[in-house]
Amino acid sequence: MNEYDSELVAGLLEKEEYTRTEVADDASLILVNTCSVREHAEKKVHDRLGNLKVFKDRNPEVKIGLLGCMAQNLKEDLLKSKPYVDIILGPDSYRKLPGMIALPVDTTENIVDTKLSRMEVYDDLFPARREGINAWISIMRGCDKFCTFCIVPFTRGRERSRSIDSIVDEVKLIRNDGFKEVTLLGQNVNSFHHEGRRFHELLHEVSQIEGIERIRYTSPHPQDFDDELIQVHASNPKVCNHIHFPLQAGSDEVLERMNRTYTKQHFLDLAQKMRDNIPGLALSTDMIVGFPGETEADFLETLDVMEQVKFDTAFTFKYSSRPGTKAAEFEDTVPEDDKQDRLQRMIAMQREHTLQRNREHIGERVEVLVEKNSKKSENQHQGRTRSNKIVIFDKAGEQPGDLVNVEIIDAQGITLFGRILD
Ligand code: SF4
Repeated sequence: MNEYDSELVAGLLEKEEYTRTEVADDASLILVNTCSVREHAEKKVHDRLGNLKVFKDRNPEVKIGLLGCMAQNLKEDLLKSKPYVDIILGPDSYRKLPGMIALPVDTTENIVDTKLSRMEVYDDLFPARREGINAWISIMRGCDKFCTFCIVPFTRGRERSRSIDSIVDEVKLIRNDGFKEVTLLGQNVNSFHHEGRRFHELLHEVSQIEGIERIRYTSPHPQDFDDELIQVHASNPKVCNHIHFPLQAGSDEVLERMNRTYTKQHFLDLAQKMRDNIPGLALSTDMIVGFPGETEADFLETLDVMEQVKFDTAFTFKYSSRPGTKAAEFEDTVPEDDKQDRLQRMIAMQREHTLQRNREHIGERVEVLVEKNSKKSENQHQGRTRSNKIVIFDKAGEQPGDLVNVEIIDAQGITLFGRILD
């Protein structure tokens, strides 16, 4: 979402005839776009802003701006600790940026706007993207779910969806720029609704656009995953057979304290329904260990879900408290050693499952969208299956953006290795 917002801001400034430079020494304006979902990200931004001060010291005409969630969340702290930051803009205030930049450089006060909007979806602004295969498109902003560990509803505000027409227009533009794949983005994409139309209808509309070969989205919420959405996956070949399906925890007690609004059984039933209906489906997930009050028995419930679902991949996190969230008020914290131990056990189990799932593909013929050179060799390409698996194979004259047929011959870790077919 933040990458998308950075592209959106770049698009806004390019419209005003600003040009982009990758060299900080050449810049008269340096913007840092931020995320405060995880503690580590906040620390990185503090360090980055500290490093940028040198440009301001060298040339007082340079303006430094901070955008995004951290602007929203930490403005008071930043005004005190980083007074050389000229502009602080929250995620709903980007339109104000050109006006703020145009103010004289000797404006003495920092310029701050972090108000959240119930309306802003940037419907008429299109991001300045770099060339590529996959384009991100934001379809909604904010979140109304209020999971107790999550800062997003406070930093990005209430949930609001863009119009289907404007999303379709943007997809046509990226198709004209040569993109083959689109990833629809939102904090909670499957609660998308605009003038009575819902997420599965949006997927259908986007799939009608010729030249777009693959449609992905992230992230859905298990509570809002309906049969219509499963049906779109099952029946529409452009809607990829990969679903990111965030579990977070397997114990009903922990899920309740997290305010996730579903139970372990509901999650398991949905995962089964998805696998029963969507051929070759890959499931990925997010999981948190060490949420306040999580006992060993609770943790074993999470491992039990992992055993039953056998996710293809997982993003695993140790819980860290985010000030301002409800969970930050919970006592009963889990000792760091226990968190670490649980995380290691979870990662070990997931590694086994990933390898097991990937080995099932050996001998299969799969369609791969070629993305770029592989990291290890210029003689090899890297691409992705519809189920979002990375495949490495020797080049045979194909180009990034091509769809090729590949036979899978090996699987190691999260990567498949293949041989291109005629
Ligand atoms: S669904 Fe929960 S975790 Fe996801 S953005 Fe909303 S509040 Fe945060």
